[in-house]
Amino acid sequence: MRVIVIGAGASGIYMAYKLKYNFTDFVLDIYEKNADIGGTWFENRYPGCACDVPAHNYTYTFDPKCDWSSTYSSSREIFQYFSDFVDKHELRQYIASHHEVTETRWDENASEWVVQVYNREIDSTFERRCDFLINACGVLNSWRWPTIPGIQSFKGPLLHTAAWDDNVDLTGKRVGLIGNGSSGIQILPQIQKVAKHVTTFVRKPTWVIPTFGSEMREHTDEERQQFRENPEEYLKMRKATEKVLTGVYPLFINDWPIQTQTAEYMKASMKEKINNEELAEQLIPDFPVGCRRLTPGVNYLESLTLPNVTTLYGEITEITPTSCITSTGTETELDILICATGFDTTFRPRFPLIGRSGHNLQDEWAHEPRSYLGVAASGFPNYFMFLGPNSPVGSGPSIISIEVQGSYIAEFLNRWQKEDIKAFDPKREAVDDFITQKDLFMEQTVWNSNCKTWYKSPVTGKVTALWPGSVLHYIETMAKPRYDDYDVTYASKNRFAYLGNGFSQMEHRPDADTSYYIRARDDGASVADSWGH
Ligand code: NAP
Repeated sequence: MRVIVIGAGASGIYMAYKLKYNFTDFVLDIYEKNADIGGTWFENRYPGCACDVPAHNYTYTFDPKCDWSSTYSSSREIFQYFSDFVDKHELRQYIASHHEVTETRWDENASEWVVQVYNREIDSTFERRCDFLINACGVLNSWRWPTIPGIQSFKGPLLHTAAWDDNVDLTGKRVGLIGNGSSGIQILPQIQKVAKHVTTFVRKPTWVIPTFGSEMREHTDEERQQFRENPEEYLKMRKATEKVLTGVYPLFINDWPIQTQTAEYMKASMKEKINNEELAEQLIPDFPVGCRRLTPGVNYLESLTLPNVTTLYGEITEITPTSCITSTGTETELDILICATGFDTTFRPRFPLIGRSGHNLQDEWAHEPRSYLGVAASGFPNYFMFLGPNSPVGSGPSIISIEVQGSYIAEFLNRWQKEDIKAFDPKREAVDDFITQKDLFMEQTVWNSNCKTWYKSPVTGKVTALWPGSVLHYIETMAKPRYDDYDVTYASKNRFAYLGNGFSQMEHRPDADTSYYIRARDDGASVADSWGH
């Protein structure tokens, strides 16, 4: 079985881990466009960049890290975690960095994907074929410049938070900052400390909340030692935090008491921190809490009140070589301009992805991304995605969602190997039903209300980034594939040809326990489970 994974971030690495320990007879190639693994945590290195999920819960669920330096960790420390994981499990052997996938095409006759790969280091393209193509590029990876007239005419350094240039020194400079999403909120308190002046351009209000679950603070050596030496207590702590993260879900349902209570609490907390009526009026939203992704901000609102920070509310109408001009006519002279303006979240693949009948997923999803349960697309056999459209990326913890999807994909790989299958292709009617049900569900959520957010399609305004339910709900949904939602094609004329010579595989192993189903009592497991299927 030949598998190509695109991207070596948290998802691609997990797939490699899964294959290495659960499969035999496979060839795995992971193509990573960057110089190293890590994805988001390799690319996002702006000052103050960190994860706003408590660090002890931002690991694979089965691979904790006792020695995080603080309750919330910097992007570099998170990158190091994934890098150490890759080394510990010897996964680097599968990863080719500096390799960018530029085109993929399903070959119906051969039932395989034909993949064009560009080696950035030697400036050359080659072709590989595989049985499964797994897109692990991530949803927040294709960063974008804002569409503001004149932006490319700006003469000073022009930076994007997701493509940070460490060589640019902000010390003593007049800095402009566009955007107040999670990135803008994290970077402002840090750059304010060194810049002469920061002008932050804010277009829409946003709910800035205290951190999720734990206060931001450094861990002491003693604490780290306790985590290491008391694994049971440490596990209890991780479970308690996870409970808070999964428990946030009812906040997103319209009219639940927690929604109004949180809005009132946050309004009061924001007002107090901003301490300026006019600014509070502009920065506190009128849309429900959670419609945009909640943005935990450590010292963000406080920074807005500092003498070397000016907040300009409104649209930037023009960028000149030396300044930004806003809709009120205010012109601000700047030395450096930072865009914290987010990513392309349309879910259109970055490269042509040509499926059955020559259809390109880039075109099919130009209007609206229509996934099957966030992991597959009809007409694109043996193609799976991590964190595809309508995956659970905003209603609770995210690493578990990656593990759930990896395990789900592994079920298909396993069946493909065992039952001599050629292709799995989700049926179009199954996708249509999923999308209809999802849209119906979204009507009762705050995500559907009157805010601008990357959770929604910029074309249709429908919620395209989020799963219609909680993370726990997703885990249950994905526990077992619904094969009746797939068209399955077999390698042999007879779908049962794989039954072969009539021997169980275990009968070829001299050390196998061939009476595994004899038990002391009914332990509830099915016979197959007791053999570890
Ligand atoms: P974002 O949430 O999409 O925010 C982009 C910001 O740029 C918005 O404030 C947007 O304003 C503004 N913007 C875009 N185009 C503009 C224009 N032409 N003129 C003026 N303003 C413009 O992007 P992000 O802050 O990078 O965050 C994206 C996601 O990444 C987050 O929601 C989160 O999931 C993830 N993230 C996570 C962390 C973490 O700690 N875990 C940190 C950073 C990011 P409008 O709202 O008016 O469009």
